[in-house]
Amino acid sequence: MGESAKKTTVYKGLLKNEELYQYILETSVYPREPEPLKELRDATAAHPRAFIAAAPDAGQLIDMLLKLVNAKKTIEIGVFTGYSLLLTALSIPNDGKIIAIDVDRKNYEIGLPIIRRAGVEHKINFIESQALPVLDKLLEDHENEGSLDFAFVDADKGNYKNYHERLMKLLKVGGVVVYDNTLWYGTVALPEDLVEELVDGVHMKEMRKHIMQLNKYLATDSRVQICVAPLGDGITICRRIY
Ligand code: SAH
Ligand code: CA
Repeated sequence: MGESAKKTTVYKGLLKNEELYQYILETSVYPREPEPLKELRDATAAHPRAFIAAAPDAGQLIDMLLKLVNAKKTIEIGVFTGYSLLLTALSIPNDGKIIAIDVDRKNYEIGLPIIRRAGVEHKINFIESQALPVLDKLLEDHENEGSLDFAFVDADKGNYKNYHERLMKLLKVGGVVVYDNTLWYGTVALPEDLVEELVDGVHMKEMRKHIMQLNKYLATDSRVQICVAPLGDGITICRRIY
């Protein structure tokens, strides 16, 4: 069991074998991945925490959703080196805007030269901060209520529920929020005692608990239509109904 339990903590795909995941990436995802995104993925690969970047297969669905809701005003919580941010910037129209929040600007600077060369930096308003106070600040101005088309949440899992409460006000009715890592390396379906406490600086057990609470909570929230897509590390798509 040790072997397979370990594997779930490092292997991003949730499918029954890694070959199938590679098949999807190589057949359908990488051939359609825009060149700058590929470049950003390569630039991130040397980072000791490269594994926390959004998975390209999940990225492909996010790009699809952005297009389906005609997203123009978006927000991203958790930027890291900018994979999902660049993906969003490439997807939305030239006059689209992204509020991008991360507590740490250093990693964003790895992706920034690529974002600049791709000609999409003007769409990005990067804010180096904890996300919660930024959301609260936005809500102080009532004009921001119902103004966002799309949100991608990929930061501290313990706050997802707090982000959700704010985003339900900031998103328009019909707007979409996507939560990343909602299957948490597959550990949501493992008995707790098989989950390691700490892997590569990630608090597996604690975050698993937060994610499991979030999943239960979202299922009870009548304000949103939900769909769990087992892509990447699991993403939950929520569409604001009212
Ligand atoms: N979406 C990114 C991956 C994000 S990883 C990509 O596609 O590559 C999670 C990021 O959340 C990290 O960069 C971390 O610095 C940031 N983060 C953690 N806690 C945060 C908080 N409270 N507020 C804002 N950002 C936070
Ligand atoms: Ca993530």
